[in-house]
Amino acid sequence: MKLQDKVCIVTGAASGIGKEIAHAYAREGGKVAIADLNLEAAQASADDIIKAGGTAMAVMMDVTSEEQVNAAVAAVVAAYGGVDVLVSNAGIQIVHPIEEFPFSDWKKMLAIHLDGAFLTTRACVPHMQKSGKGGSIIYMGSVHSKEASVLKSAYVTAKHGLMGLCKTVSKEGGKYGIRANVICPGFVRTPLVNKQIPEQAAALKISEEDVIKKVMLKETVDGEFTTVQDVAEVALLFAGFESNALTGQSLVVSHGWFMQ
Ligand code: NAD
Repeated sequence: MKLQDKVCIVTGAASGIGKEIAHAYAREGGKVAIADLNLEAAQASADDIIKAGGTAMAVMMDVTSEEQVNAAVAAVVAAYGGVDVLVSNAGIQIVHPIEEFPFSDWKKMLAIHLDGAFLTTRACVPHMQKSGKGGSIIYMGSVHSKEASVLKSAYVTAKHGLMGLCKTVSKEGGKYGIRANVICPGFVRTPLVNKQIPEQAAALKISEEDVIKKVMLKETVDGEFTTVQDVAEVALLFAGFESNALTGQSLVVSHGWFMQ
């Protein structure tokens, strides 16, 4: 068991990548808090973990709300005694050409991806310092932390921003054994991506099949989607790695779409 009794908070864990990470952590012995806007789906996911013999709780959290983030982290600490792993994963996608991008959508994107990462980090770090054991903070970046695509100015900006936050948290966290790393997945077939396919087809005036083949998977080595399981494996590696040897790093898991 790589995460026996480690307290792991995963944001956006009611769906997609975060849900799979939460389940993978629970299978490795972690006590998992599923933090999401969608409390009903978060509770259903926690119930599945408990039925399978794991330990999990659901907490309501809008990652853009300082009050909700602080309250949810406090509830997890009250229930499980601390925080060892934070996966800042909650995210959405909004695509527009830059000249048509509504300012409100731009601000919403930056709030969820960047304010969310900041607020959850700030709420968890004191507990990792206090325990004397440090911890692991994992940001869900993207190939778009390293690369750009048309229509995605806000997403690309936010995902690049996480790299800066990660490096700073690594430097500040070093003396406490608090590590920070970024996972950079390629396209994963989750509700977030399924929503984009028709949107991009309309914006680029091509078929949905061509969006998948000629846009999303064009640069991969094999035309394959990355899976939630692939991403969860990387999340396990970062969470279970016990020294500062692996901090301030980013790992791309994308079927070779982006090569360092
Ligand atoms: P998803 O839509 O399946 O799940 C996102 C979850 O985040 C949902 O449960 C949703 O309720 C929650 N959420 C949204 N706004 C929130 C908020 N303000 N507060 C709390 N929770 C909120 O999406 P996914 O594909 O699993 O994406 C998860 C993360 O992975 C995102 O950060 C995304 O940018 C990143 N990512 C996804 C892909 C991909 O291809 N799917 C690729 C690279 C990176």
